[in-house]
Amino acid sequence: MRIQVDVEGVLADPHTPFLKLLNERKGTDFRYEDIRKYDCWKALGLTEKEFFRLLDEVWAKWWTVPPSIPNVSEAMEKLNRLGTVDIVTKRNSSTAPYVKTWLFAKGIRYRRFIQIGLKRNKAELGYDVYLEDSPIEATAIARKGAVCLLIDQPWNRSLTETRNIIRVPSIAESTVIKHLEPLSKPSRNSFSHTEKEF
Ligand SMILES: [Mg+2]
Repeated sequence: MRIQVDVEGVLADPHTPFLKLLNERKGTDFRYEDIRKYDCWKALGLTEKEFFRLLDEVWAKWWTVPPSIPNVSEAMEKLNRLGTVDIVTKRNSSTAPYVKTWLFAKGIRYRRFIQIGLKRNKAELGYDVYLEDSPIEATAIARKGAVCLLIDQPWNRSLTETRNIIRVPSIAESTVIKHLEPLSKPSRNSFSHTEKEF
């Protein structure tokens, strides 16, 4: 079983330091639950460019980014036993080294780190299972017939579950594994930490 794991909103929580930075700079009081749309910049009073620039700033201080759950590396170990796990992240190249450093610092193991451009669609990559928070990616993944375990976030709550879109509260192993175990077959994993860019 080939598994794709997303970074932001799945393994990592850059949104909390992002909002702290935004509120300090703009004198606003936005909270996590206020991010109700995936393309949330308008609701936060930002342009798309400003949003991504601020997010890049957050990753430049990668040590301030908390994991989405305390035992994130344990959850990944369980996934690694069920299939081959690639980290796929959609971002500009400048922040990829920070993300890789963050993954290493958190003890997160995976097969490959794949960075794709902002305009690419993850569904094209042909994984069997995706752990995602994006409602846009989830819809495309389901359309391709793959399974999306949708990590519950305020910005994806309007997306309805289907046979292929299963909402889970977090990447915590107990919530994810019960959906994946029936799909998994024995596989040999390698942890080469090789990289590939598409
Ligand atoms: Mg994400």
